[in-house]
Amino acid sequence: MTDRFDILDAPDEFLAAPLRLTVDLSAIADNWREMARRSGKARAAAVVKADAYGLGIEDVGQVLYRAGARDFFVAVPAEGVTLRPYAPEARIFVLSGIWPGQEDVFFDNDLVPVIASEEQLAFWMALLSERGPYPCALHVDTGFNRLGLPMAEAIALTDDVSRPASLDPVLVMSHLACGDDPSSPMNRRQLESFRQVSAAFEGVDSSLAASAGTFLGADYHFDLTRPGIALYGGEAVNGVKNPMRSVIKAEARIIQVREAKAGETVSYGASHRLTRDSRLAIASVGYADGYLRNLSGSGIPLRQTGLAGARGAIAGQPVPVVGRVTMDQTIFDVTDLAAHGVRAGDYVELIGPAMPLDDVARAAGTIGYEMLTGLGLRYERLYIEGDD
Ligand SMILES: *Cc1c(COP(=O)(O)O)cnc(C)c1O
Repeated sequence: MTDRFDILDAPDEFLAAPLRLTVDLSAIADNWREMARRSGKARAAAVVKADAYGLGIEDVGQVLYRAGARDFFVAVPAEGVTLRPYAPEARIFVLSGIWPGQEDVFFDNDLVPVIASEEQLAFWMALLSERGPYPCALHVDTGFNRLGLPMAEAIALTDDVSRPASLDPVLVMSHLACGDDPSSPMNRRQLESFRQVSAAFEGVDSSLAASAGTFLGADYHFDLTRPGIALYGGEAVNGVKNPMRSVIKAEARIIQVREAKAGETVSYGASHRLTRDSRLAIASVGYADGYLRNLSGSGIPLRQTGLAGARGAIAGQPVPVVGRVTMDQTIFDVTDLAAHGVRAGDYVELIGPAMPLDDVARAAGTIGYEMLTGLGLRYERLYIEGDD
């Protein structure tokens, strides 16, 4: 079975790698355009924190910039520094804000701090009275209780005559706690609160929605949406079919295929006992590669909840993980594949078109975000621009 990820002319170090990750940059660009379309009259930013959700901020940033993104969000200044050459004219917002000692990194790289607390605001205002105008964004808390100024403080700022004239927010923003659950009453409550903030900062762009909020509809769009996970093909909203294109294929090489007898056990803790004569494929991936131990087929507390372990895919056929995932290897049951269906040297798809990211994440009791950002350093990466 071939798909857009089957690249015949890839470099040898990719074709022979124990672990390989293909990233379809065209799919990321398509997903951004789709989120921009769904943002209606609002502009769509691109959230590329955590190395673009583990997929590589340089390559991903560049393709998003080419697709038209001009507002980027990163978590920490170092990410902004890495992104800057790939997004020369873009506004790069740093979500963790600014601390004393970071002035140069912000000013030299034209990074915009997202002021996230009262301490940061005080520092920023003092800095501006010396330096003169420089753009910032204000994060206002509307119920998440993570980052942001209290609402009353933020609103009071709008007619505070003592504030430096050089305080010049280019964006006020807030973040939804329950955007992934369209039925949650929390969404409306935060929307009503943010409307007050947005109205107080008349003439300043407003932003409330991440990926999930963008799907909640036009009320939530304001001037700028901030999609992240949707760009990378992950599920943003629970319980609805994911409309985004899949973006990655992660594969591990099968080091050996072995026969084992009914009654024998597999992996650490002898945690899986074979109920039939079996063929096992030992793949070169483990929890050190973000193939989480909670994906194990057995031998971990999570399996007692009745949730099945993870599956990989070989030639499009699902193959279950058996026993515990170990640091560098994982064992798949390939008994049900045709006799010569799998050999040492073949690859098992861990995540990809045949094995959706969020299905794998669910098997580990987690979310696609955590799987992506945990992929680790051992994957040989290949960036492709497949068909649009
Ligand atoms: C991470 C983040 C986003 C992007 O969220 P997704 O759910 O990945 O779309 C947007 N805004 C803020 C403040 C964030 O922390």
